[in-house]
Amino acid sequence: MNRPNILIIEDDKVVSRLMATMMESQDYAYQLAETGRDGIAAILSYKPEVILLDLGLPDMDGVDIIEQVRGWSNVPIIVVSAREDDSDKVKALDAGADDYLTKPFSIDELLARLRVALRRVALDSDKSGIASNIYENGNLRIDYSAGCAYINGEEIHLTPMEYKLLCLLAKNTGKVLTYNYILKEIWGSINASDIPSLRVFMTALRKKIQAGSDKEFIQTHSGIGYRMLHLH
Ligand code: CA
Repeated sequence: MNRPNILIIEDDKVVSRLMATMMESQDYAYQLAETGRDGIAAILSYKPEVILLDLGLPDMDGVDIIEQVRGWSNVPIIVVSAREDDSDKVKALDAGADDYLTKPFSIDELLARLRVALRRVALDSDKSGIASNIYENGNLRIDYSAGCAYINGEEIHLTPMEYKLLCLLAKNTGKVLTYNYILKEIWGSINASDIPSLRVFMTALRKKIQAGSDKEFIQTHSGIGYRMLHLH
């Protein structure tokens, strides 16, 4: 990826201008769309590497855009919205957004989230056949075909549930996974009463993969879910 294409779907001109300036400062290419309709058209024609999406657009709700786009594309979507309720974040993430940032946002924070999304794009395009059986992130390594995980080359002993959780997070590195998403993938159904046990499994998993590493792999988004971070 040389110069990444970023699509900014935002109807507030002050915000989109600020974002445009940020893209220029990073030498990212970008395109602006002010409505959901134009945004969707631009996703098809411009083929962005990452989308920055406002939820409150004049013609559509951003969540509907996420749902539509996920029907045909896996492109990372970072929601940048003034809606700060956890339920709005969860709705957008459940619809398939990768990340969520609340306005007013800090420039450094937005650029950091963009880099996370761009790394996911780079990682996805690296994957080819055999290579995708091995996951490596910092000192964590997962051998999917053997069903084993390692820290610093040493196998860590995980319960089947912990291993499933780890694989799910790893396969979605850089993306915030909501409780609902995780429950659906691992338990097979969404039941809010399972969230406390999910937390317990996550704590146990975190303890095991954190041993021998000074970096935090799994980020907690309080009231929302978890994300596996990219480590160098
Ligand atoms: Ca708006």
